[in-house]
Amino acid sequence: MSRIAIVGGGMAGLSAAWEIQRQGSAEAVVLEASRNFGGKLRTERVSGFLLEEGPDSFLVRKPAAVQLCREIGIGDELVPISANGQGSAIYSGGRLHAIPPGLMLGLPTEIWPFLRSGLLSFGGKARAIGDLLIGPEGAEGDRPLGPFVARRVGRQVLERLVEPLLSGIYAGDVAAMSTEATFPQLLELERRDGSLLKGARRMRRTAPPVKTPREPMFMTLRGGLGRLPEALCAALPAAWLRQESQVAAVHAANDGYLLTLVDGEEIAADAVILALPAPKTALAVQEIAPQTALELFSIPYASLAVASLAFAAEDFSAPLRGSGFLVPRGAGLQITACTYVVNKWPHESEGGVLLRCYVGRANESPLQQGDEELLAAVREDLRRVLGVTAQPRLARVFRWPDAMPQYTVGHLARIARARAGLAKHPRIQLCGSAYDGVGIPDVIRQGREAAQAALSALKEPAREESTRKS
Ligand SMILES: Cc1cc2nc3c(=O)[nH]c(=O)nc-3n(C[C@H](O)[C@H](O)[C@H](O)COP(=O)(O)OP(=O)(O)OC[C@H]3O[C@@H](n4cnc5c(N)ncnc54)[C@H](O)[C@@H]3O)c2cc1C
Repeated sequence: MSRIAIVGGGMAGLSAAWEIQRQGSAEAVVLEASRNFGGKLRTERVSGFLLEEGPDSFLVRKPAAVQLCREIGIGDELVPISANGQGSAIYSGGRLHAIPPGLMLGLPTEIWPFLRSGLLSFGGKARAIGDLLIGPEGAEGDRPLGPFVARRVGRQVLERLVEPLLSGIYAGDVAAMSTEATFPQLLELERRDGSLLKGARRMRRTAPPVKTPREPMFMTLRGGLGRLPEALCAALPAAWLRQESQVAAVHAANDGYLLTLVDGEEIAADAVILALPAPKTALAVQEIAPQTALELFSIPYASLAVASLAFAAEDFSAPLRGSGFLVPRGAGLQITACTYVVNKWPHESEGGVLLRCYVGRANESPLQQGDEELLAAVREDLRRVLGVTAQPRLARVFRWPDAMPQYTVGHLARIARARAGLAKHPRIQLCGSAYDGVGIPDVIRQGREAAQAALSALKEPAREESTRKS
């Protein structure tokens, strides 16, 4: 039986292993550098609280995560976002503003809630409506998200709505983010409708009808997202899983590959799936595919921190409403967003009122600060926004250096060039958040697709052989 080495035991790598096991025509070994599988998905249980160190939920609209949970037998552990956790706010001008209903891609599709919202000035609203009169730019190809949106609907809609709503997913900087790789629908709206506002309205009108009972937007697992890699590992043969196995390089050998680990061990494989952050993949392939390595080294990453703080209900002068708030760049706070875990996922917050604050984004790394300094800054921001001054019952910081790949202008072309550099090696496949989507469903889908591609490539020589014989 052929053997596929999967390098990286995050969700992309584990999903690739699951697909290989499901297909049953090859065996696999998952080589994970750290002690734990799951990569960014880690959950800690601390006195009545479930602390998510990395992601806290996944989008349901992209089906790969829900489907995987059902396949591995944890479908009954899925938890939809609570009704109390619907609706969010944006911090601007020193206070919170409810996000006006009817937004699509951060753009207003309903005129009255937009005009009534205190989030934008009269001039900002008038400028947004100017989008209906502006002709298309006429440029082809990719361009930075920020200037593209600002040209159409003005800087205020960009800075106070579109930027916090759309760039947060990538911890990105709209001045550099690729529109093609992140929100290509915006380019399509301009092309097709000649206006972002008109296009967003059309998109909303023609969106498929809401399913009944209404499908939740986000889900998590009862025991936290760490359950997903845990259950996935339990569903895979134990002999396929190797922790503390950091791969240094992939070499071509005979008609397969030899992987060198940092401790000098060598592992032979017929195919290789690299499910690693881009710079780590670049290091591994620089000998056999230098062009690919060059392209992957040029993908920048943002560093982040997540601070979880728990308070007592009486520490707040007013009840917290909705799922939390987002903070635009330049609003004068260190935190970029705050999730009211207590509203969104009450089962994770049984010991009190748990808040989860994000710090850092592209070009704004928070990691030069120590934990104490970071927590002090987060507490000061919470005092300003929510008026909470009490000592938290629990305060933890999770640090994520170089965690979020940045899809900057030209990303799709860069990835195409990186893949072209491996064209001679169809049995080496790339997957994970550096390529085609950073969300959990995206990396699961990519892992499974990489497994399918590696399995097809393994069939190729056999096919050539049989053609020769016949
Ligand atoms: C703070 C934070 C919050 C997020 N929130 C959400 C969210 O709410 N919803 C959502 O959908 N997404 C969220 N994301 C994004 C999502 O979690 C990630 O994009 C996704 O988990 C990445 O999966 P991956 O398998 O591609 O990479 P990773 O999880 O990074 O896995 C790569 C693995 O490779 C291993 N490795 C590295 N080098 C080597 C080597 N040389 N040899 C062997 N192994 C190696 C690493 O140890 C790691 O385990 C968040 C990300 C962060 C950082």
